Order: sequence, then C-alpha cells, then structure tokens
Amino acid sequence: MSTKDQRVLIAGGGPVGLLCAWLLARRGIAVRLFDENEGLQTDQRAATTHPATLDLLQEDGLAEDMARVGLVAPVFQFWDRPSGELVAQFDHAVLAADTRHPYVVQCEQFKTAKLLRERLAALPHAEITFGHAAVDVRQTGARVELDVRGPQGITTHVGAYLIGADGGRSTVRKQCDIAFEGFTWPERFVVLSTPYDFEAGRGYCYRSYFADPGAWCNCFKVSADGPPGLWRTVFPTEPGESDADILSDAGVQARLNKFFPAPQPYPVVHRNLYVTHQRVAARFRYGRVLLAGDAAHVNNPIGGMGLNGGIQDAVNLVDKLARIVQGGESERLLDLYDLQRRTVAIEFVQEQSIANKKRLEAADPEQRQRNLDELRATAADAARARAFLLRTAMIASQRRAERIALEDA
Ligand SMILES: Cc1cc2nc3c(=O)[nH]c(=O)nc-3n(C[C@H](O)[C@H](O)[C@H](O)COP(=O)(O)OP(=O)(O)OC[C@H]3O[C@@H](n4cnc5c(N)ncnc54)[C@H](O)[C@@H]3O)c2cc1C
Repeated sequence: MSTKDQRVLIAGGGPVGLLCAWLLARRGIAVRLFDENEGLQTDQRAATTHPATLDLLQEDGLAEDMARVGLVAPVFQFWDRPSGELVAQFDHAVLAADTRHPYVVQCEQFKTAKLLRERLAALPHAEITFGHAAVDVRQTGARVELDVRGPQGITTHVGAYLIGADGGRSTVRKQCDIAFEGFTWPERFVVLSTPYDFEAGRGYCYRSYFADPGAWCNCFKVSADGPPGLWRTVFPTEPGESDADILSDAGVQARLNKFFPAPQPYPVVHRNLYVTHQRVAARFRYGRVLLAGDAAHVNNPIGGMGLNGGIQDAVNLVDKLARIVQGGESERLLDLYDLQRRTVAIEFVQEQSIANKKRLEAADPEQRQRNLDELRATAADAARARAFLLRTAMIASQRRAERIALEDA
C-alpha cells in the first residue's frame, strides 16, 4: 500500500481528534484531520483532568504544559448547601503510590486543544483542515473513504482507517448506523463564570461540590487568562424554565444567590446552557471506522469525566493502530479497543457520573442523610478514601481496561 493508503483520517478537531492526530503523527503515521469549524473552538466545557489521564499525557511534557497554563488542584470538597457544612474533603496525596500526578489539573479544553495544535504544526505528515465537514463514509476492502464538504464542494479522501472524533452528534457514528444508547436528562445544565473569589470569600477549594434537595452546584476554579482566574458554577435548571429566564441577569443572580447569598450582584462573564445526556455507542469499531471521545460516549459533567474518557480512548486507540500499521499486528486489536473502552465507559463513567448527580440532588431526607454520612465515613477512613479516589481519579477504570485481554474480545 502507498503511504496515502496507510494514512489515518480523522473527523473532528476537538481535543480528542487533535490528540489522536498528534500521537499518530509523532509515531510517523500520516494523518489527515478535518473539522467543520473555521478554527479551534474557544470551548468553555471541560477543565478537570484527572491523575490517570495526566499519567497518559507524559509525551513531550504535555501534562506539565497543561499544569503550567492551568491550575493544580490536589483536594476536592463536598458541602451541604442548606446547613453550609463542609461534609468531606479528599486529598489526592493518598494516591502517591498509584499515580505520578496525585492531583487534578484544571486546564480548560480550549487550552489543551491549543497545546496540541502547536505541537501538530511541527509534524510534517499531519494535515489539519478546518472549514470542512465530514458528510459520508464508505468502506471498501482495505480502505475507507470519507466525503468532506468544504468551500469548493464535496471531496473524497482515502485512508486505511477513519477515527470519528466529531463529538456527541457525530456524523461518522450516524453514517455507520451505530446506535447511541442511553437517555437525555430532562433538566439542562447552566454554567456561570465569575471572577468573584470563592476561596477568599467563602473558603471553598478549587473543586467544590454542593448537595441540595432537588438541586446541586459544582463550583470550581480555572486560570482563564491568568491571575486572578475565574470561578465556574454549574447548576441544573428547573423543568419548564425558558432560556431567556435562565440566562437573564435576574435569573443568573437568583441562581447564584440561592447557593451563595451575597449583598452585591456577582459579576458574570460567561453564561452557557447545555443539554446533557448519558449515552454510549453500541460499538466503538465498525470495520475500519473507530469512534473516540464524545462521538463514542457522553455523560453529565459532575465529576469531570467526559473528556478524560476521550483522552484515554485516544491513547489506547493510537497504540493499537500503530501496532497494526507499523508492527503488522492483527486488526483484532481494534476489537480489543472496542471492548476495553466500551466496558469502562459503561461500568465506570456512566455509572459514576449518574451516581455523582444522584448523591448531590437527593431530596428524600433519609437518603440525603445516608449520602452525607457515607461521604463523611469514607473521608475519615484512609483505605476507603483511597478506594474512592481511585475511582474518581479514573485509575480504577484504567486498571479495569488493562485487565481485558485480546482473548476476551
Ligand atoms: C459544562 C460541561 C463541563 C464539562 N467539564 C468536563 C470536565 O471538567 N472534564 C471532562 O473530562 N469533561 C468535561 N466535559 C465533557 C467534555 O467537554 C467533552 O467530553 C469533550 O469536549 C469531548 O471532546 P471531543 O474532542 O470528543 O468532542 P468535541 O469537543 O465536541 O469536539 C468535536 C469536534 O468535531 C467537530 N465536528 C463536529 N461534526 C463534524 C463533522 N461532521 N465533520 C468535521 N468536524 C466535525 C466539531 O467542530 C468539534 O471541533 C464537560 C462538558 C460540559 C457540557
């Protein structure tokens, strides 16, 4: 096969597509990536990058660069909103023997994408094309064909494999008729960013979770354009609330004041509304087409696991593609990718993110009490705290994936 036939096509230049492109090109494999946007997105979504993910981003000092442009957050807290009590605090230091990064890095995903884009620019066999949308996919024997719509109309591109990293509404996934199984939450999630300093003003750490009957809040800090940084608060909306009411000045201030009463209005610099789903693709491999990131799985953001899962997909997939393309190993490795990553998406990310939400929003007084008592008891017991952190830090899911062998696929 010619180099062109061996190249890997990628649909989607979010953080997952860019990471796949960079890791493949670093190994000498030609890649061609298409993104429908005109450039990188200035995306306010993900920030939290967990220890297990940082451990995978060692090449070329990427994890260190993310910490440099982001914030290091070793602890996180659970608070009870009605009583104002600090219920539990967890310190990643207890994972010192389990990870090289016993902390979380809060690095906004547009910064991670920018770091990857800069690295890709130095690699000759990585072609990145913005303003081009993947519209159709065909597979014929030893190659895959991708139709892409750009300013000049539709063009067809040929490769050995196609990675669909084109986000939750993935055209690649739809073109391959792969079901996206799961459900959509009835409430939406509103993200409000403010320069108000919740640490100095209220003693909250950089990642603080608030339980409240029928509601909840995540409050965390990002470095934004540099000191003093921004605090992001995430809340559920009420059923039936209109977008205009949610995003109005009055709506925004009422929401913030319910959780964090203040004499002055909060300055609010971003207000974004998200529909949130819990869905996993029925398969991550369809012949020469592989799904990764949000194209393969989506979940609510409580616990910050969506992009982490996508990065873990990318590292896992690139390792296997390189072994096939360069090492002549069996394509069955791609079934192993499917099994490893799909298993942990279901058993860990879906399960944990749903449990995180239910724990914070529990309205029944006895259930609430049990949840808070459980958190207190877990934080107070070193062995239980470590087991809890192994899951939240996504180390347990990585270990689970590694235990799944080719014979299981
Ligand atoms: C409020 C919120 C907070 C979050 N916080 C966290 C967090 O702290 N930690 C965490 O791990 N995750 C978090 N997430 C989840 C995280 O944002 C996503 O998991 C992440 O964006 C997935 O990256 P991706 O590259 O797979 O997809 P995307 O970021 O969605 O990128 C997809 C790319 O594909 C392009 N595209 C789409 N269709 C086409 C097409 N047909 N052809 C070509 N290109 C196409 C798009 O332009 C886009 O650039 C959060 C999500 C939300 C909503």
